[in-house]
Amino acid sequence: MIPFNVPPCTGHEMKYIGEAVASHKICGDGQFTKRCSAWMEERFHAHRVLLTTSGTTALDMASLLCALQPGDEVILPSFTFSSTANAFVNYGAKLVFVDVRPDTMNIDETKIEAAITSRTKAIVAMHYAGVACEMDTIMAIARKHKLLVIEDAAQAVMSTYKGRALGTIGDFGCFSFHETKNYSMGEGGAILINAPEYVERAEILREKGTDRARFFRGQVDKYTWVDLGDSFLPSELNAAYLWAQLEMADAINADRLKSWKSYYDAFADLEKKGLVTLPTVPEGCVHNAHMFYLKCRDLEERTALITFLKARDILAVFHYVPLHSAPAGLRFGRFSGEDVYTTRESDRLVRLPMYYGLTADDQAKVIRAVRDFYGV
Ligand SMILES: *Cc1c(COP(=O)(O)O)cnc(C)c1O
Repeated sequence: MIPFNVPPCTGHEMKYIGEAVASHKICGDGQFTKRCSAWMEERFHAHRVLLTTSGTTALDMASLLCALQPGDEVILPSFTFSSTANAFVNYGAKLVFVDVRPDTMNIDETKIEAAITSRTKAIVAMHYAGVACEMDTIMAIARKHKLLVIEDAAQAVMSTYKGRALGTIGDFGCFSFHETKNYSMGEGGAILINAPEYVERAEILREKGTDRARFFRGQVDKYTWVDLGDSFLPSELNAAYLWAQLEMADAINADRLKSWKSYYDAFADLEKKGLVTLPTVPEGCVHNAHMFYLKCRDLEERTALITFLKARDILAVFHYVPLHSAPAGLRFGRFSGEDVYTTRESDRLVRLPMYYGLTADDQAKVIRAVRDFYGV
């Protein structure tokens, strides 16, 4: 069986987890958490990076930092994971869904302005497949209308837009280190705080509403409960696992990009014949090969392809059921404008096996199977 995903493992994980255990410091914010956040701050030129318990809770933190009031609206694509939406619904916002661009499956930046009302508070840019949204346009719209921008960069660790790391362009960026993502700690994530004025509140929210971070820095002589909060910090055991990935981030990235390119090259002629549509990476965007997807002609053909691959012991999957048509989406949101591409394009999309360490042999089997399906 060729799996759809294998969690990344570089071989140094047990050593670092052992070090964490031996240090008798297994709660959050120990040496591995510090190493991971310092590495990301330096590598991505991020003002402040805080590890979280998941990509979902990184989004929750971003939402709390937006200080939403009941009735406030948040603009986001409908083609995304439920966490992108829940983070804002959890804290009282109404969702306003905007259509995606068919080439990248990212929010269509040209349709955002029409979705803005007097209640709009924020725009969420989810970088699908690690390919950047059109951030210059999105940031210009946000500045003009005084809106916050949250980058859901869960899939986009190590991707860039015009040379800048994704997650560092908006006010807040959110990474995921779930086992299905490029770099993993089992369950985990990070929030990137790009506007310095939010750092202190972010530290407080993350540490149960206390000013513990200031206490540890010696800025106050005892720590106390000062604000809303939760426990958003991961254990050192998870951070130790992540460190084993981050120290080899370039090797992991190169390996994934190689697999991505092999798929792309192998299917180029299928696209020329009009049998499939391949992903687009716009100029100025450098992606991280988070996933390889292709688009079939329609839903029926996609179902047939997935069944065909399964019969050959290959797991291929699809996602997302557009949020605006899901039960919770109907309750918490509305679609602005027309759904031209969201439903149509998501129905056609299929993701092929893609992970660090995918062997050339296994990949050749996947490629052969897809070509056989199309009879080429
Ligand atoms: C994976 C993912 C999340 C959630 O991350 P978790 O770490 O699983 O909580 C959020 N948004 C997007 C776009 C994702 O792909």
